[in-house]
This record gives sequence, C-alpha cells and structure tokens, in this order.
Amino acid sequence: MKFTTALLFVATTSQQVFAFAPANTASRHSTSLNSVLTKTTGRSSLDPAVIARYDALPFPADTILAEYVWVDAAGNTRSKTRTLPAAKAESVETLPKWNFDGSSTGQAPGDDSEVILRPCRIFKDPFRPRSDELDNILVMCDTWTPAGEPLPTNSRAIAEKAFAGNEDQETWFGLEQEFTLFNLDERTPLGWPEGGMPSRPQGPYYCSVGPENNFGRAITDAMYKACLYAGISISGVNGEVMPGQQEYQVGPCVGIDAGDQLMMSRYILMRVCEDFQVYCTLHPKPIVEGDWNGAGMHTNVSTKQMREEGGLEVIKKAIYKLGEKHAEHIAVYGEGNELRLTGKHETASIERFSYGVANRGASVRIGRDTVAEGKGYFEDRRPSSNADPYLVTGKIMSTIMGPEAKEIAPLDKAEA
Ligand code: ADP
Ligand code: MN
Ligand code: MN
Ligand code: MN
Repeated sequence: MKFTTALLFVATTSQQVFAFAPANTASRHSTSLNSVLTKTTGRSSLDPAVIARYDALPFPADTILAEYVWVDAAGNTRSKTRTLPAAKAESVETLPKWNFDGSSTGQAPGDDSEVILRPCRIFKDPFRPRSDELDNILVMCDTWTPAGEPLPTNSRAIAEKAFAGNEDQETWFGLEQEFTLFNLDERTPLGWPEGGMPSRPQGPYYCSVGPENNFGRAITDAMYKACLYAGISISGVNGEVMPGQQEYQVGPCVGIDAGDQLMMSRYILMRVCEDFQVYCTLHPKPIVEGDWNGAGMHTNVSTKQMREEGGLEVIKKAIYKLGEKHAEHIAVYGEGNELRLTGKHETASIERFSYGVANRGASVRIGRDTVAEGKGYFEDRRPSSNADPYLVTGKIMSTIMGPEAKEIAPLDKAEA
C-alpha cells in the first residue's frame, strides 16, 4: 500500500513531494527517473487548452458521475467517483452505499479493511458541470463498519444523536470558516516574502482591497461561486486579519445540515486550491511567531425561542450552560486550539470561560443587534478553523438542551 501511495505522490505533485518520498521508493526509480522529473513535470495537467479538450466531451445520456466524499481519520476530506444511472441519484435513499479501503486512510485494520460509505446529503458537482438537463453530483457520506456500527471517527453519527428529538428547536448555525493560503512550499503564506515576514503589521489586511493587502481573493471567489453552484448556503466571504488568511460563512443551516454543508464546503475549498496549485491549511495558528491572528470557526447559534420575543433571556441561559461545560467543549473544538486561544489576537483564554456584548475578546459574544432587539443569536468564538463541525454543533445542541446552570456575570469591557 505504501508503495502505491508514494508512486501517486510522484505522479501528481512531483517537485516537492518527490524529495520526501521514502528512500526505498526513490532508489527503486533509479537516477534515470530523477533526471526526468523536474520542477515543471506535470504542469501540462494545468494547461487550460489541454483541460478544455476533455471538458468539451459530452456526458452519456441517463448517466451521471457521483463523487462520494467522506471524512478521514485526520478530519480531512477524501473522495472517489463512480458512474451511476441518473435515476439512482434522485435522493440519498436511492443512491447505493459504497465502500473504500480503510487501511489506507487510517480508518480500519489491514486484515478487515472495508469501510461502508452511507450517502447523507447530495450537492451539485461544480467541478463537472454539464450542458444537458442532468447534474453530476457530490455526495456527503459518513462511515460505517460492514456490521453496521458507525466508525469511531464518524462524528456525524454522534451529532445525529444530539439533534434527534430536538427538531422542534429549529436550531440554526452560521459557521465562519477561516483558512490560510500558502505557496506550495507550505511555509510561505501568500503575500509573504520567502523566509521572512510582511513589512507592515496587521491592520490593512482585514476586509482589504489592493494588491498590497489582499492575497488569494481569486481563490476565495472561485470557491464562493463553486459553493453557490453546488447548492451550499454560503452567506459571504471576506479577507482576514493576517495577510494570506481569508474567511467564508456557511449558514444559517438547520441542525445536522450545518455539518454536512460545512464539510462539503471544505472539500470544495481544497479542490479549488488544487486547481490554483496553492496550499491551504485549516490549522488554527499557522504562524506562531510574531503578532499574527490565528484562524477560527466562529459558530453562530440560535433556536426558535432565541429568535422570538424574550429570546435574549433564552440566549443568556444557554450561555450559562456553555460556561459550565467549558472544558468539555474545548475538548472537541479543534486540535492545536491552545496555540490560538491565548487571550490575545481577538481571542479569549482557553483556561477561562467568558461572555460579553460586542466583545471580541470573550469566549462567547452577543451581538449589539441581538441586545438592542432583545432576541437573535449568539456567537461561540472558541472553535478553531480545523474543528469538526459535526462535533461542535452537536455538542452545543446537547449542552443547551441540558439542565439549567447558574448565572455568570458578563465580561466587563475593561477586562477585555
Ligand atoms: P462576524 O461579525 O462575527 O464576522 P459573520 O458575518 O462573518 O460574523 O458571520 C455570521 C454568520 O451568522 C453568518 O453565516 C450568518 O448567516 C449567521 N447568522 C445570522 N443570523 C443567525 C441566526 N439567527 N442564527 C444563527 N446564525 C445566524
Ligand atoms: Mn466573520
Ligand atoms: Mn473572521
Ligand atoms: Mn465572528
């Protein structure tokens, strides 16, 4: 298995990955292949004229391509494609289950490696548009053992339990996905000098315009359109505080659909970055040295009651419950989050729960509009950009449905 993986790397992203190929694989290729692989090997696959030739071929009638997408052991998306009769693509119920080799994704032992993919949510495929009346599709799946148990990494199944029976709450989530773009060296953020730092500190880059301020807008906009085409409720985009960092928002989405949509939006983002040959990371603190903001996945939440008259009181009670379970929430709010939640750079300390009105230094923020209207939503600012959206939304749901908690005083402005 290892051998095949290494070979694939060499074939797709030759230049830098080749250097990291295991020694035994490199020697297997001998020097002759080494001299053929250059920095431009594989570039023809990016030539628009070459790509257009194949894009122009029509798809066969009554047949569609379905890209099955799932989450691997590291929380990244993976996918593979199959050809299906168009009639099978009508709903997740008519789509067949499928499987993959879990030993190659860290999700199953080698001696019993089959993992079952269960179709959960259908989107239109923005990467394979077609000109007839049919659509190729992306299918968000979750992962099961052949015996019918969810895999330990199937966080969707956990969230499903949290949402089951709470449909009457009509819980909305708006997820703000921040991400950081790098050159393919995986070391130099877009817009940064190689091996150095931008000459100007943070300030001009947030919601910026201009070649000296905004780096990667073309990627964000391409991802934005691709998400809209796919049918994702993407509500906006903006440039972020650290140069090379960008954000988009998904939502409001109801219940488990927030996780499905956010996960598929991440898949689309990574596919777009593949096309642009730009490296994207969801790491919460990609640059630790210096005064640079980390990246989060702020989670905006409201139940039906919170959006109605008297909602502010319901919001406060939910926040007290969140405060009581701070450590449990931090445990599922993303890996490496301790590097980001320092109390600096528009974050609250990871150690202590706090909330405040219009306060971006609090764990949870209530917006000014919500206070003015006495109803609306709150923002949990703790989840990191790489957090699992199923775990985050599911955990919030079960906590706010839990027992009453004692009142917490809001963060004094002076403390922020
Ligand atoms: P910020 O001011 O923190 O940057 P954004 O505008 O980036 O906020 O994101 C706010 C998100 O909250 C959007 O996705 C928006 O659709 C969502 N949202 C708006 N109203 C609600 C609501 N009542 N409940 C949940 N989410 C909401
Ligand atoms: Mn935002
Ligand atoms: Mn942001
Ligand atoms: Mn926010």
